[in-house]
Amino acid sequence: MKILIVDDSGVQRKMIMKIIQEAGFSQPVLEASNGQEAVQVLGTNFQDIGLILCDWNMPVMSGIDFVEGVGKVPQLSKIPIVMVTTEGTESRIKEARSKYPTLVGYVTKPFTADQLRNTISPFIK
Ligand SMILES: [Mg+2]
Repeated sequence: MKILIVDDSGVQRKMIMKIIQEAGFSQPVLEASNGQEAVQVLGTNFQDIGLILCDWNMPVMSGIDFVEGVGKVPQLSKIPIVMVTTEGTESRIKEARSKYPTLVGYVTKPFTADQLRNTISPFIK
């Protein structure tokens, strides 16, 4: 199983990768810098990807547009997505979770290795 990290900030992606490793997970990580790029990565790797960590605010295609798109594709709609958000988006996340069952959780930036571990470990195989 692989983990896909979607974030427009390369620094943020590297930080998330480091935290994933610190949390004790050794799964290979793929990267995309926005929702559209993530769709392209999924196109060739969807059978390997078991978890997606997705930023909310990104150019070209936002995290929530990505979640909505993925939810409509049967082959992709089973992949759990954890949103990585900044403060103030909790209510929007809750609203989104009611609409998109693939959105299984969220972590708020900045987060610790413990917080991330607790959120993603149920979905790591
Ligand atoms: Mg962003």
